[in-house]
Parts: sequence; C-alpha cells; structure tokens
Amino acid sequence: MDLGIKGKTALVCAASKGLGRGCAFSLAREGVDVVITARTPGPLEETAEQIRKETGVKVTAVACDITTEEGRNLALAACPNPDILVNNAGGPPPGDFRDWDRDDWIKAVDANMLTPIFLIKATVDGMIERKFGRVVNITSGAVKSPIEILGLSNGARAGLTGFIAGLSRKTVRHNVTINNLLPGPFDTDRLHANMKVKADQAGISVAEMTAKRAAENPSGRFGTAEEFGDMCAFICSDQAGFMTGQNFLMDGGAYPGTL
Ligand code: NAP
Repeated sequence: MDLGIKGKTALVCAASKGLGRGCAFSLAREGVDVVITARTPGPLEETAEQIRKETGVKVTAVACDITTEEGRNLALAACPNPDILVNNAGGPPPGDFRDWDRDDWIKAVDANMLTPIFLIKATVDGMIERKFGRVVNITSGAVKSPIEILGLSNGARAGLTGFIAGLSRKTVRHNVTINNLLPGPFDTDRLHANMKVKADQAGISVAEMTAKRAAENPSGRFGTAEEFGDMCAFICSDQAGFMTGQNFLMDGGAYPGTL
C-alpha cells in the first residue's frame, strides 16, 4: 500500500532509539524526509546515517533536549514547517507520589504534556494553511490503564490526552489530524532498563524476568519498534485523514476490556 506521503517532511522527536527511531524509519521508508532529535549526539548521528543509507531520504539530526524551550527552538529551526510531527520524549521516573514535590511534577508535565502542546502550537497553523498535517503523540498504555508506580506519567499524559481530544476536532476540517499512539510493552532500551529494576526487586535474573513478562502478555512477546513505526506511518498516511482524536493502543491484547 502506498501511503501517499512521499516527499513530505516529518519532525520526529526523541528518535535515536526505541519507538521514536521506529517511527522515523517507517516514515523514511515511505519517502518522507525526516528531522530527528535526541540529546546524545553519537547514537543520533548513527541512526541518521542508517536511515539515509537504507532509504535515501534527507535526514537531519538535531541534538537537543526537546523538553526545553531552547531544544524545541533548535528542532523547529531545522524543521519550521513539518507536514508530520511525532511527539515523543523520555518517560518520567517511577516512584511513590509521597516522594514527589512540585519540581518533580513540573518536570513530568513539561516533558510529557507541555512539550507536545508547544510543538503543536508552533506547527499546526502551517499544516492548516497547507491543508495537510498529521500529528502523532507517543503516550502510553498507562493512559488507558494506569500503572501505579508511574503516577507522574499517568497524570501528565492524561492531561495531554484531554487537551488533544478537544483540539483534534478543530483541525480535522483542514485535513490535519492529531492522534495518540499508546505503547504497551515494546522491546526497547527503556523496557530493558525497567526489567533490570524488576528483576533486582524479585531476586531473579534479567533474562528470567524478561521471559516471564513476555509470556504474561496475551501475544506471548513484546512489541517491536518496527511494528510501532509502521502503525505510526499509517496514521500519518494520506488515507488516514478521517481519523482524529483517537487513542490507538498497541499492547498485544494486554488491556482486558471489551472496548
Ligand atoms: P528508549 O528506547 O529509551 O528511547 C528513548 C529515545 O528518546 C532515545 O532516542 C533518547 O535519546 C530520546 N530522548 C529521551 N529523552 C529525550 C529528551 N528530553 N529530548 C530528546 N530526546 C530524548 O525509550 P522508548 O521505549 O522508545 O520510549 C519512548 C516513549 O514511550 C517514552 O516516553 C516511554 O515512557 C514511552 N513508553 C514506552 C514503552 C515501552 O515498552 N517501550 C511503554 C509505554 C510507554 P537521548 O537519551 O540521547 O536523549
């Protein structure tokens, strides 16, 4: 299927590794030029070069912290008029809400709620003028089914989800859609870091914990960044203009509800 987005430009945030990288790759395979960001220049350049080599599209790497105003300005200077915006950043740390002070909450809200909102604010009017725009926010399965120790994430991402639910109905008339993609367990560095913490707590090896967690999922495995990226590319396709304000859960069937 030709997704009809060849020649478009995408800003893909937090994309040197994991889910963001998967999205950048899948969009590039569709012929989309990508501007990718991450804080650490080495792995970012490596990913940029891999995408260039495999797909031949134009890839620009911007090393910056996307959760800061300075970082967002750098990313937007490299990509002032994206047709596609993939919002992503690291998730907040786990813990007990009794230990979190105002600064912890502000950091989480800055990273996982306000950063995507400010990037949308900076780019959505151009999309509306050009009559094409696709925004995908990488949030979390925790929006639908909160994870107790991830209270900062549950809270900040739910705030973003509420905001998007309203805005997305205003932009779709202009062929600008805004949707959220909710990962369950995906095989990325972040997941492996979490497995190490859980394995240490349970007193078993990381390999044992990883196998146990994968087996517990109805699919018997973790998702891959490629699957996630391809879903993102479809949401960004020309064909997907009638879908907006949705929360697409990709979790191998872990969420047990009927709807
Ligand atoms: P990952 O494998 O650790 O990759 C994170 C990527 O984001 C890296 O490229 C990292 O590069 C970049 N990054 C992190 N903070 C950044 C910042 N402030 N500015 C710019 N780039 C930044 O993580 P992932 O698994 O892909 O997770 C992506 C998002 O999905 C996170 O918010 C995570 O909480 C959420 N999520 C993931 C899962 C899962 O199973 N993997 C499940 C639910 C939710 P640098 O460190 O160099 O900046």
